[in-house]
Amino acid sequence: MTSPAPARAEVLRRAADAVLDERAALAALMVRESGKPWDEADGEVVEAVDFLRLYASTLDHPPGEFGLPSDEHEHNQLRLLPRGVAVAITPWNFPFAIPMGIAAAAIAGGNAVVLKPAEQTPACGAAVVRLLRAAGVPVEAVGLVQGGARAGAALAAHPQVATIGFTGSVDVGLRLARTAGDTLPGQRHIKRLVAELGGKNCAIVAADADLDLAAEALIRSGFSFAGQKCSAVSRVLVERGAADALRGRLEEAVVALRVGPGADFETFVPPVIDAGAETRLNEERAAAAAAGTLIAAAQAPSSPGHYVAPALVADLPPGAAMLTDELFGPLLAFEQIDDVEDGCRRVDALSHALVGGLYTTSSDTIERVLRCSPVGNLYINRPTVGARVGRQPFGGGRLSGTGHKAGGPHYMMAFCEQQVVSHRIPLTGLSGTRARD
Ligand code: NAP
Repeated sequence: MTSPAPARAEVLRRAADAVLDERAALAALMVRESGKPWDEADGEVVEAVDFLRLYASTLDHPPGEFGLPSDEHEHNQLRLLPRGVAVAITPWNFPFAIPMGIAAAAIAGGNAVVLKPAEQTPACGAAVVRLLRAAGVPVEAVGLVQGGARAGAALAAHPQVATIGFTGSVDVGLRLARTAGDTLPGQRHIKRLVAELGGKNCAIVAADADLDLAAEALIRSGFSFAGQKCSAVSRVLVERGAADALRGRLEEAVVALRVGPGADFETFVPPVIDAGAETRLNEERAAAAAAGTLIAAAQAPSSPGHYVAPALVADLPPGAAMLTDELFGPLLAFEQIDDVEDGCRRVDALSHALVGGLYTTSSDTIERVLRCSPVGNLYINRPTVGARVGRQPFGGGRLSGTGHKAGGPHYMMAFCEQQVVSHRIPLTGLSGTRARD
């Protein structure tokens, strides 16, 4: 039986406090498992706390519970009901905040949740479940299944699973969309897919942009955590008038990037997640350098580690993988565009629509881009990475996701059914006290 909303909110708030109590140890776990640098890991702990507190506060004022017109003869109410068991299938690049966020939203909605973390980061997933249980989530309401793709596929296909909360690649997301469309014998609901998928994120730099600001934001967006963020920029589209000046700034900054172990405080670009990613990315880097012009590269250490030297590549031919595929590494394409409209056309040609960047000092340019931009999150004159829970609800459209916006006021509703209760009051009135959960 589902516990009442105020009790669920209290448990989530207790979990937030418990996460903060272990702030340094949890960050250390992420540095150890995912290789991310300390500041990124610490930011992720805080992000998990923000998810817990936001979804707890959603229960203080459930969206939609108010506002249906009623009068003295008829009372109308929109209520949120749990959908049933949710699964959270999550990636390695945000191995603590993403599973915590999906689990917290599902629990806030009154559901049980089973977490399947990525194979590369099992201890971070286990920490999420341990902390939720310690805060008071009943053991039968939060489960953990460790394993790889087969475990995820089996969980998603289970007939008792009502909602598939998935964050990961477009390929796996589309597979899960097909799974959600199947109805197995005995299944009495249509599964809902809540998916946050990959991006091919572009930043447009107008000729009137503040280029110092743009260069700094682009370096952070393209290379922090070795570009292994769904929100990382992988294409810079710069108007002709600013191209040489921006190129010069980016060249200098790329060469100076500090590549090294995540555990070193001075590291900006850590190793990539595993040997497979290292091989794939070094092959893509070599292919791009052969097809285009390698205009700047940083030095990767010779010490052991899955290092990919960050690179800035220009003059890539249409159809090059760096221009079309989410490579998920420290590789940034540099393109000159005729004008902002040319940049918008290149963005619109993509099937991803996760985030975009725009650097300009003209409000007219902002309006022109807003009229045509398909992305879920558009960042103007700031990095495209570092969305803050509550302030920048996050998620894309097109093939980048189902657009439910994690960290937003309505995200919990994705794990709920909406029920409308219309109650005519008999002329004789009502006796007794009306119960309300
Ligand atoms: P992934 O390969 O799609 O894996 C994500 C999760 O799905 C992992 O737990 C994985 O298990 C599991 N999985 C793999 N195949 C499956 C299948 N056939 N059925 C069910 N589950 C399956 O993604 P990743 O490499 O971990 O993460 C990187 C991707 O996530 C990038 O595309 C990135 O853009 C995206 N991402 C998106 C967001 C966003 O908010 N939009 C945020 C972060 C990351 P195993 O890993 O254990 O095999």
